[in-house]
Amino acid sequence: MPRRYGISDSRLKRIAHVEIACDAVARFNSMARLYRHEICGGLFGQAYEQCIVVSSIHIVENRTQNVNEFLLSIDDLAARSAGSRSDRRLVGIIHSHPSGGTTPSILDVQTMTRSPYIWAITDPFLDEPNLQIRCFKGSGLGAMEVPCSIR
Ligand SMILES: [Zn+2]
Repeated sequence: MPRRYGISDSRLKRIAHVEIACDAVARFNSMARLYRHEICGGLFGQAYEQCIVVSSIHIVENRTQNVNEFLLSIDDLAARSAGSRSDRRLVGIIHSHPSGGTTPSILDVQTMTRSPYIWAITDPFLDEPNLQIRCFKGSGLGAMEVPCSIR
């Protein structure tokens, strides 16, 4: 059965760079700073041959009460992309680490290896905007960092 969402495994393997709109990251992190728990959402944009360009971020409900976890519904995200332009596809998942650091947790890595998306993790309290976000993708070996730039 064809997968309804995400990026194909073969394409995800080739993705070597992520570019994210600066204002989208700034808005996500300013919201993240207001909460003690993790916030989460989707990265929307376009997947090119080796690069993903993220033009917008949509925050959706974090469905867990656990402070250091997040749980989102792909259906919530898909609803955000329904009927939108072809350059606004769901290409990734983003969540904040309010307790600091952008290193994926063990649970993050486990989920990444099962999900065909780019994963962005933010530490909203870091001063330098370029350090506030890192991107990853699942690989056979776990999580692999994908260089990202804020534009
Ligand atoms: Zn995490």
